[in-house]
Amino acid sequence: LVVLKSVNKHFGALHVLQDIDLTIARGEVVVVIGPSGSGKSTLCRTINRLETIDSGSITIDGKPLPDEGKALAKLRADVGMVFQSFNLFAHKTVLENVTLGQVKVRKKDKKEAEERARALLDRVGVAAQAEKYPAQLSGGQQQRVAIARALAMEPKVMLFDEPTSALDPEMINEVLEVMQQLARDGMTMIVVTHEMGFARSAANRVVFMADGRIVEQATPDQFFSNPRSDRAKDFLSKIL
Ligand code: ATP
Ligand code: MG
Repeated sequence: LVVLKSVNKHFGALHVLQDIDLTIARGEVVVVIGPSGSGKSTLCRTINRLETIDSGSITIDGKPLPDEGKALAKLRADVGMVFQSFNLFAHKTVLENVTLGQVKVRKKDKKEAEERARALLDRVGVAAQAEKYPAQLSGGQQQRVAIARALAMEPKVMLFDEPTSALDPEMINEVLEVMQQLARDGMTMIVVTHEMGFARSAANRVVFMADGRIVEQATPDQFFSNPRSDRAKDFLSKIL
């Protein structure tokens, strides 16, 4: 579904993505881990073209990423993204947040979009908050709304960049549970996270990055019990 071939990207002198080859099949859940600054966020951002690449190719369903205009808006709908910071529209209600893109990008009529929004808010457990504004919600609730908003666009793949790392500990699980359910429902997911419990239980594959490279890829069982590279061993010894 998502194929990256020899992707390279620089920020000035910094070679932030180095010859990245990565193929993600439909329905696969890939967890990306690695030290700070290794390029995990940049990798995610290239897949919905929040960042351009210098060389190589990225395709979704066999099609290269569009450069601009309506095709780019559609790509951003096809590739749902949830960030560490809950980037909801602050001056819109929860319901409006989850309805807006459906009407603007997917051209749904308002009533249909609202019905879908309410069903999704129910699915992520925040249906009672529909008429509130983001600032009136807890961090965990806001992040679940962000997930519902991305899902409302009927994405082909969902990207999560450390979705729980800005949350208070007691709110982390409610977000991880929504993500677990999504994984069980067959959503294709790329998840950058430090939650190794999630990686063990939900991931089909762990991708370990360091210094802009994919150093190692394995099943969670293989990776956690028997990391092959010294970089991965060193990383795991610090976080487990
Ligand atoms: P973390 O775990 O801290 O989130 P990361 O693996 O997500 O790290 P990235 O955010 O992808 O890392 O950043 C990789 C490198 O690129 C870092 O050295 C960072 O400082 C640099 N970088 C990221 N974005 C930019 C930018 N817009 N301009 C210049 N340098 C950048
Ligand atoms: Mg990051």
